[in-house]
Amino acid sequence: MNNKLTEKLFAEFPELYRGRSEPITENLMSFGFSCGDGWFSLIHELSVKITKHSKEKGLNPKAKQVKQKMGGLRFYLEGGDTTTDLFCAEAEKCSFTICEDCGASGKKQAIAGFTQTLCKKCLEGKYNTK
Ligand SMILES: [Zn+2]
Repeated sequence: MNNKLTEKLFAEFPELYRGRSEPITENLMSFGFSCGDGWFSLIHELSVKITKHSKEKGLNPKAKQVKQKMGGLRFYLEGGDTTTDLFCAEAEKCSFTICEDCGASGKKQAIAGFTQTLCKKCLEGKYNTK
């Protein structure tokens, strides 16, 4: 994800992403969000839900790592509860319908050993499948 969007998430949810200043042996958020810009809204929405729920429950969870794996969003959180686990699982499920590169409606594509969720346009641009 580009710097501008990354900084936006860090600035809006400083508590959730406080691990960004920790060494990489402790926390991988200093790498930012290891996925495409198309998932910004999805991650933003998930951050809002986690933060709101945590305030209500008196929790103070911390994101450990956020990345794309096998075409889906993986959001690793510590200090959450079963509800935040559910939010992360829902976002992962949702990520398989959103193009990781542009945010349009997409689907899981497996090409040349890579699995990514992309829309038709991004798939063609990226892998020249036309
Ligand atoms: Zn796209």
